[in-house]
Amino acid sequence: MDRDTAAKRVRELRELIKEYSRLYYELDSPAIEDDEFDKLTRELRELEEAFPELVTPDSYTQQVQGRPSELFAPVQHEVPLESLQDVFSYDELKEFDKRVRDAVGTPVYIVEPKIDGLSIALEYIDGRFYRGATRGDGQIGEDVTHNLRTIRSIPDKLSKPLPRIIVRGEVYMPRESFAALVAQQDLNGEKPFKNPRNAAAGSLRQKDPEVTAKRNLDLFVFNLQLVEGADITSHAQSLEFMKELGFPVLTYFVAKDIGEAITEIERIGALRSSLPFDIDGAVVKVDNFAQRNILGSTSKFPRWAAAFKYPPEEKETVLKDIEINVGRTGVLTPTGIFEPVTLAGTTVSRASLHNQDFIDEKGIRIGDTVVIRKAGDIIPEVVKVVSHQPGSEPYVMPKTCPSCGSEVSREWGEVALRCSNPECPAQILRNIIHFASRDAMDIEGLGPAVVEQLVSNGLIRSAYDLYTLQKEDVARIERMGDKSAENLINAINKSKENDLYRVLYALGIRHIGQKAAKLLADRFLEMDRIMNASIEEISSIDGFGSIMAEAVVKFFSLPQSRHFVEKLREAGVNMKKQGEVVDERFKGMTFVLTGALPTLKRDEATALIEKYGGKVSSSVSKKTTIVLAGEDAGSKLVKAQQLGIRIIDENTFLDMIK
Ligand code: NAD
Repeated sequence: MDRDTAAKRVRELRELIKEYSRLYYELDSPAIEDDEFDKLTRELRELEEAFPELVTPDSYTQQVQGRPSELFAPVQHEVPLESLQDVFSYDELKEFDKRVRDAVGTPVYIVEPKIDGLSIALEYIDGRFYRGATRGDGQIGEDVTHNLRTIRSIPDKLSKPLPRIIVRGEVYMPRESFAALVAQQDLNGEKPFKNPRNAAAGSLRQKDPEVTAKRNLDLFVFNLQLVEGADITSHAQSLEFMKELGFPVLTYFVAKDIGEAITEIERIGALRSSLPFDIDGAVVKVDNFAQRNILGSTSKFPRWAAAFKYPPEEKETVLKDIEINVGRTGVLTPTGIFEPVTLAGTTVSRASLHNQDFIDEKGIRIGDTVVIRKAGDIIPEVVKVVSHQPGSEPYVMPKTCPSCGSEVSREWGEVALRCSNPECPAQILRNIIHFASRDAMDIEGLGPAVVEQLVSNGLIRSAYDLYTLQKEDVARIERMGDKSAENLINAINKSKENDLYRVLYALGIRHIGQKAAKLLADRFLEMDRIMNASIEEISSIDGFGSIMAEAVVKFFSLPQSRHFVEKLREAGVNMKKQGEVVDERFKGMTFVLTGALPTLKRDEATALIEKYGGKVSSSVSKKTTIVLAGEDAGSKLVKAQQLGIRIIDENTFLDMIK
């Protein structure tokens, strides 16, 4: 290639890479697959190597990508958060090893899995978590401290009160959480995240920490950026040190030469699909800090480390058909049915095609030859269409519900089509399946197939009909003998004793998963109190956002929801939190909190008052029963004195609830 042609291609590549990087890093919404992106960057690197005069300081090869968003406060990284040099073959890795040995003699290497998440720096002052930031452009990151505080594995306090330490780690979304999130996004008619990496980045880079809190993110720490008050001389030592301080540290391997490092890379590669999180490679790092210093860094990455990238496992297959499923919330989800192929150890014959937008973007038609892979190595997905069958037509989602024939519509701002008929049999069916499922009422023997038979035989029309089923009716359905019918009726009856949170979750309230149902049950103890709670009361629960609170209130404002609960109650289904004696000693009383209490936090005091049936109001009026006052109580205390309202301190309050 001559210089001019190379210069033209370099310009083109930089434009493309810049745009793809913007979508990936800033919007957490990549437009192409990582390996396609890597091909572009490799081509650029090769051209720059052949024509070094074409290198510019702002080229992708010279700079960490990702501009920090203005939505977050900027954080200047004291120690830059560098990227890594990629290698795609063992030959390239051996070249890396040669460069290292030429510079420092005989290095010991540490090999670690390369977690596919997003990089963050965590700073601790006097042993307490002070601040956390994303990588951004490597120099300036985004302050996401509040969001990071919702991740349980990030310690708030270290085991030693070191004056100052900054560590670097990778925030990731475990595969199981990713699968659950995508299923929920399909159900809610939202655009699903492409892979766990983007889901983690999108979940952490949120304005509202409550959203982050719901996403089950996790973290591994893999580098010591800076420490005061300890003398650390090698990477392995730093990992042990960080582990001791309370950080989750990845398992690492000490290799005495590159041969041992390669064996470890192969071992990790073989484990890849069985890990609970995504990895996209393995990182080989020089262990000794003095040797690292000699090797130094380029403007983009350290010369003492290399990331070996594993190729994704992909297969070609034929899309035989597209099936439309109607979910419990009425969303129509297209599912691709493929000629079965084996991928990462399992046979794949179905994959969600999510919605019309996804189908259009990929240009998917029935009969196509497509490439599929497992996103996050668990969920099969269509990567691209290889060829169409002659004479095929673009696929268009149906205009009516395949279950009940009602019109389907697309709500504003949603990508999904929804069936508008609340009586739609498919939705009813899904609701009953959900009601009986393991996390909900856990009715043994009542799986999807049996529910379908009960519905199609006209034996039930709603989940509450389960409780009036007779053994004789059940025994008549196909392949259900007397014994199975009896077992099923017993299991249904047993479910009446279930704890309140199960019943709540079984109701299928939007945005309320099992965890949220438990929080509601813990706070309110009884179904009636939940049904009558206000948005403010519900959103004051730690871990609850306003969207979830609104969803609960909206659900119980519908007459059909209340009717449903009443039917369950009539059937004898338990409506109270078990193991709790409902004690309403504060029933009818309104409390006002003012000032700082010596031991109780405001939300703890509120929780206690509500637990015993009382209410908390923000202002003092004639309706106030008691003012619970702490230090520095201000105008509320004065007003309470003027109105002659009873004023108590924390000790008296604690005595009242003894
Ligand atoms: P990188 O993600 O490949 O490698 C650097 C990162 O690895 C670090 O930021 C670090 O956080 C992480 N990491 C995980 N485990 C680690 C460990 N044990 N030790 C050290 N670091 C560890 O580099 P990059 O420059 O941030 O991004 C390039 C990647 O992003 C490529 O995989 C590329 O395909 C992808 N990308 C894709 C698109 C797209 O459109 N699909 C666009 C831009 C970038």
